Amino acid sequence: MSGFDEVFDYVVVGCGGGSMCAGLVMRKAGKSVLILEKTNYAGGTTARSGGVMWIPNNRFMKRDGVEDSYEKAMTYLDAVVGDHNDTPGATRERRGAYVVEGAEMVDFLVGQGVKLNRVGYWPDYYDELPGGSEKGRTVVAELFDVNELGPWKSRLRPNFLSVYATLDEALSLRHLKHSWASRSNMAKIAVRTIVSKLTGKHPVTAGAALQGRMLQASLKAGVDIRTETPVSELIVENGGVKGVATVKEGRPWRVGARLGVLVNAGGFAHNQKMRDEYQPGTSVKWTMTAEGDTGELIQEMMRHGAAIAQMEEMVGNQMSIPPGMEDNPIKPVVQGMTAAPHAILVDQTGVRYMNESGSYMAYCKGMLERNNLAPAVPSWAILDSQHLSKYGLVGTLPGTPKPERWYKEGFLHKADTIEELARQISIDPATLRATVDRFNGFVAKNHDDDFERGERAYDRWLGDTYGSPNPSLGSISEGPFYALQVVPGDVGTYGGVVTDAHARVLREDGAVIPGLYATGISTASVMGRSYPGAGSSVGPSFVWGYVAAKHAASAAA
Ligand SMILES: Cc1cc2nc3c(=O)[nH]c(=O)nc-3n(C[C@H](O)[C@H](O)[C@H](O)COP(=O)(O)OP(=O)(O)OC[C@H]3O[C@@H](n4cnc5c(N)ncnc54)[C@H](O)[C@@H]3O)c2cc1C
Repeated sequence: MSGFDEVFDYVVVGCGGGSMCAGLVMRKAGKSVLILEKTNYAGGTTARSGGVMWIPNNRFMKRDGVEDSYEKAMTYLDAVVGDHNDTPGATRERRGAYVVEGAEMVDFLVGQGVKLNRVGYWPDYYDELPGGSEKGRTVVAELFDVNELGPWKSRLRPNFLSVYATLDEALSLRHLKHSWASRSNMAKIAVRTIVSKLTGKHPVTAGAALQGRMLQASLKAGVDIRTETPVSELIVENGGVKGVATVKEGRPWRVGARLGVLVNAGGFAHNQKMRDEYQPGTSVKWTMTAEGDTGELIQEMMRHGAAIAQMEEMVGNQMSIPPGMEDNPIKPVVQGMTAAPHAILVDQTGVRYMNESGSYMAYCKGMLERNNLAPAVPSWAILDSQHLSKYGLVGTLPGTPKPERWYKEGFLHKADTIEELARQISIDPATLRATVDRFNGFVAKNHDDDFERGERAYDRWLGDTYGSPNPSLGSISEGPFYALQVVPGDVGTYGGVVTDAHARVLREDGAVIPGLYATGISTASVMGRSYPGAGSSVGPSFVWGYVAAKHAASAAA
C-alpha cells in the first residue's frame, strides 16, 4: 500500500465497546491492529457505563443451571424485536448471528484472561413474553484493580460509580432502610473498601472494570492504542475503504489498513444538530454519554454511501436534574423512582399514561410519544410521604430532609393536599385528584387495570423488591405530597449505519462497502427499536466488534 505514513492490518476508529474485542481477535490471528481514540481516555462511554452485556445462552448461565438455548433466545427476540421493514439493523439473520456469536465471544474473552461473570438476578425487560428469562442474561466483568494498568491507569475513562461494589450490590443499596440483604451488601462493600485502602489497591467497577480488563488484555496482546488521536476521514480508493486520516504530533497522518477499518466511534448524543434532525424534542443537556459522542464518523460513513436507519432511537434514561447539577456529566437517573410504591408519573395535564416500571428506553419513548398528544416533556412524578420515608430521592437518603434549594428553586414541590400540589405545578386539581384516586383504587385491589404495573418480574425487581403485597404498587395517601419533574434523558443514541451479519457496512441497495465494518452505537442496533434486557447496547458493541474482526481476519486467510 502506498501513500500512507503507516500501515496496519486492521484499523479501529474509537476505543469503545467492541474495539478492543476486535483488537484481541486480530492479535490472536497474528495480525497487527491500531486503535485510534480522539479523547484523552480509552474505554468510551462503555467505561463510564454499567458495563453489563446482554448475552443469551452464555457459559455462566449454563454453569449456574439457568435455562436458555438458541431457540429460546430467538423466540424472545422475535417477540420483542420482531421483523419490521424500517429496522434493517435488526433482521432475523442478524439476530441469529448475535445469539450464536455472543455466547462464543464471551468464551473467547474468558480465554483471553478477561474475568467475566453473570449477574445473579436481573430479569429481561419483557420477561413475560415468550422466551423471556426471569433470572436474566446479563454478563458483567469482575471488579478490577486499575493499578494493574501501570502507566495506562490514568488513561482509562472513569466510571459513573465511585464505590467498590458490583453493580447489583450497588443497586441493592436502594433498599438499605428495610432490607437485611442490602445492609449485608453495604457491610461487604465497606470491608472491601478498607482492605483495598490498606493494600494500596485502586479498585474500579462496572464499565471501568470491563474496559480496564479489556485494556489490560489488549496491551498484553500487543494491540497498539493511541488516545488524543481523532480520525477525520476514511480514505477510499476504487470504492473500497483503504485507511483513515488522523493526526500524529500535530501533523496530518494517513494510516493504511490492509484488511479493513472498523468504526466503533459511538453515536451522536452530544450533537444537537443531529438530534434536532433525527430526534426532535431531545437535548444534549440530558445525556450521560461521554463527550466524544458527536456523530462525525456516522456522517463520514454516510458521505461514502452508507445507508442509515433507526436514527430516531435512543437508549432513554429518565432523569430529574436538581439545581446545580445541570452541567454535571453524570446526571441523576431516576429509573426506580416511579417504579417503587407510593409514586406515579403524570403528564402536564395530570393524567397517568404508562406503566412506570418499564425499561428506561420504553419509559422515555413513552414520554416522547405522549408529548405528541399532551404536554409530557417534562412529566411530573407524584410521590407521597411514605415514598420519601422509605426510598432515597435523587441521591438523598430515605427519610432525610431535602436540600432547601430544591424547594426554593422549584425543583421539588411539597403540599399538604393533592389539590394544593396540583395548583403549585399548574395542573387542574380535580384531574390530579381523579388520577390519584384511580391509582389508589388499583393499589387497593392489588392490580393496575390501566397499565399492568407490577405484573412482570422486571417491574417488581425495579420496584421495592422487599415490599408487599406488590413491590410496585403503594397508595399515594399520606401527606405531605411531593412533585418533581422527570425528563427523557439518555445514555446513548441507538441508530446509525446499516450493517450485515458480518458487521460490514451496507449501501442503500444492500451492497457491501468493501473494507468498512462498524459496531456499537455507530450502527443501527440489532435490537431494532427495543431494549430486550440490561446490556443491550454494550453487548452488541462487543459482539459485532468480535464478528467484524473475525470476518476480516478470515477473509485474509
Ligand atoms: C452511566 C451509563 C450507564 C450505562 N450502562 C449501560 C450498561 O450497563 N449496559 C449497556 O449495554 N449500556 C449501558 N449504557 C449505554 C452504553 O454505555 C453505550 O451505549 C455504549 O457504551 C456505547 O458503546 P460504543 O462502543 O458504541 O461507544 P463508546 O464506548 O462510546 O466508544 C466510542 C469511542 O469512539 C470515540 N470517537 C468518537 N469519534 C471519534 C473520532 N472521530 N476519532 C476517534 N475516536 C472517536 C469516542 O471518544 C469513544 O471513546 C450506559 C451509559 C451510561 C452513560
